Amino acid sequence: SCVLVTGANGFIAQHCVALLLSEGYHVIGTVRSQAKVGQVLDLHGRNLNLSVVVVEDITSVDSYLSALQQPSSGPDAILHLAAPFHYNTTDLENDLMIPAVRGSTAVLDAARSWGTVRRVVHTNSFAGIYDAAKGPQPGKVYTAEDWSPLTYEDGVRAPAAAVAYRASKAVAEKAAWKWMEDNASAATTFDLVSLNPAMVFGAFLPGAAPRTPEQLNTSNQIVYGVVSAGADGAVPPTRGPVWVGVRDVALAHVRALQVPGAGGGRFMLAAGVYCNQEIADVAREVAGKKHAGDIPRGTPGAREADSHFGVDAGETERVLGIKWQGLREVLSELLPQLFEIQERG
Ligand code: NDP
Repeated sequence: SCVLVTGANGFIAQHCVALLLSEGYHVIGTVRSQAKVGQVLDLHGRNLNLSVVVVEDITSVDSYLSALQQPSSGPDAILHLAAPFHYNTTDLENDLMIPAVRGSTAVLDAARSWGTVRRVVHTNSFAGIYDAAKGPQPGKVYTAEDWSPLTYEDGVRAPAAAVAYRASKAVAEKAAWKWMEDNASAATTFDLVSLNPAMVFGAFLPGAAPRTPEQLNTSNQIVYGVVSAGADGAVPPTRGPVWVGVRDVALAHVRALQVPGAGGGRFMLAAGVYCNQEIADVAREVAGKKHAGDIPRGTPGAREADSHFGVDAGETERVLGIKWQGLREVLSELLPQLFEIQERG
């Protein structure tokens, strides 16, 4: 069967594509410029089950329809991962809100037009679950039943791009569920699954790690910020404080396609809470002699877990059959790539 993966060059999507190909799926990746087509094909060794198309504008259904032109070329399922995740803008509406929110429904419009799609999986976020404005909330345990109250207006008027990003994800998710409701009577051929990952840490596919720290995806920049702070540096304050490994996120995407009962479901993807001190402690253990001494010590063993909310992703473990990777395992794979970027830069 054939899966369309939007934003196929992205950090998480590259793992989804690799896993789908390894399980024998046909994959159509979308990217937004011609230059990225060859890069994605190369990344997967020019696998014959992979094709890559340009969707110039993820907010336009026509962009999708003209990218897959032949009749009956619609995919059987869609993983929608393309959305901005960066904080480098002051035009919050055009650079964060619109691509996320209109992108969320345009791909559903395309799915309806193709008529071949049986399931759409949207990559939403823990930002659509928790209420950052409530602060640390010690004792509170978030589950996939919780909803962020952020609105479109909150995003447009946000005091910082990070807040607008959270709003973009929360509002994009709500827009997708509303689309499903509004189209329920129209004999839609597909159901929707929402995956809501926490901060995703993990290695890139071989050959896909960026060359400079600035090009690192936003979530891995957190780890880079800790391990590159220098032996005498301070451990930067935690921004998270919930995380998940990228391989588990990719596995959840594939399982979300495969598990019949996942349809209509909303799943939090979270290995647990973390703090940057924990990243520093684990990183010093797994970094190897050459680099361990350069990682800030901070206050070894100090943990922030009791001072803020926790998470329960047990439902995801049960329904999608996932056992989360630990921080040691994930950092062991990621750190060599980060040190290479650091040494180059
Ligand atoms: P990346 O930045 O690595 O990938 C983002 C992808 O979306 C890229 O393919 C990018 O294309 C594309 N994209 C971004 N903005 C636009 C736009 N305006 N128009 C078209 N395409 C766009 O991020 P991740 O892999 O980390 O994120 C993938 C998805 O997962 C996103 O939806 C993100 O919100 C979500 N997510 C990520 C988390 C994380 O911690 N990483 C946590 C929770 C959710 P290009 O390369 O051309 O810019």
